[in-house]
Amino acid sequence: VPAARDRLRIAIQKSGRLSDPARALLASCGLSWRESRDKLFCYGETLPVDLLLVRDDDIPGLLADGVCDYGIVGRNVLEEHAALREGEGRPQVSKEVRPLGFGGCRLDIAVPEAWDWEGPQQLQGRRIATSYPGLLARWLAQEQVDASVVMLSGSVEIAPRLGQADVVCDLVSSGGTLLANQLKPVATIMRSEAVLAGPVQPFADIRGELAQMLLRRLDGVLRLKD
Ligand code: ATP
Ligand code: ZN
Repeated sequence: VPAARDRLRIAIQKSGRLSDPARALLASCGLSWRESRDKLFCYGETLPVDLLLVRDDDIPGLLADGVCDYGIVGRNVLEEHAALREGEGRPQVSKEVRPLGFGGCRLDIAVPEAWDWEGPQQLQGRRIATSYPGLLARWLAQEQVDASVVMLSGSVEIAPRLGQADVVCDLVSSGGTLLANQLKPVATIMRSEAVLAGPVQPFADIRGELAQMLLRRLDGVLRLKD
């Protein structure tokens, strides 16, 4: 049984595309913080809701370990973690609680511009570079395509030019990066945006009431943004 806690802890990206909008959204819910010297932890002042500033990739794990109660993270990162867990036969402990309406992007298959795209079967036997092996494997299985997945943690779109892979499965927003690497998007594996991720099980202590209040405020703010 985890120890009772009387403050909520929310993990957000320390620096990157989601940091500023995540903080702005929480601030518009009436939260404010006193920052620690190392800027990793922000102590909630107006409400007992603290922030942990981390790499986005660490957020699903921090949630799963109960280090954080909520996280603001791309659906792509949350679902990748879930897909890997599922592959290991472990139960899901966190889930998407609310879509947040920023950080929109797609996880797309992109192929060399010269290809005439005829559908997923064209990927049979090919090498696909990605940072999302779990989501890609799930999609390949669904499409009944046998391909080899080349896991790269960054610079995925350059892999075909380097001869590391034939095609890529990467995040796309404007498509500019793909174009610059002579690739074109041909299929969408997932539509993503920033989401509030939280526990599957309800809180058994005062955090339950804090969470309800936070969600009520968040819903009010999100409604105004629509
Ligand atoms: P960190 O240092 O925290 O690991 P990162 O480089 O992995 O940072 P960012 O590039 O800031 O992360 O992207 C964070 C999230 O922003 C992505 O997981 C995705 O949900 C979203 N996003 C929106 N548009 C794009 C895009 N064009 N490319 C990559 N991510 C995007
Ligand atoms: Zn990251």
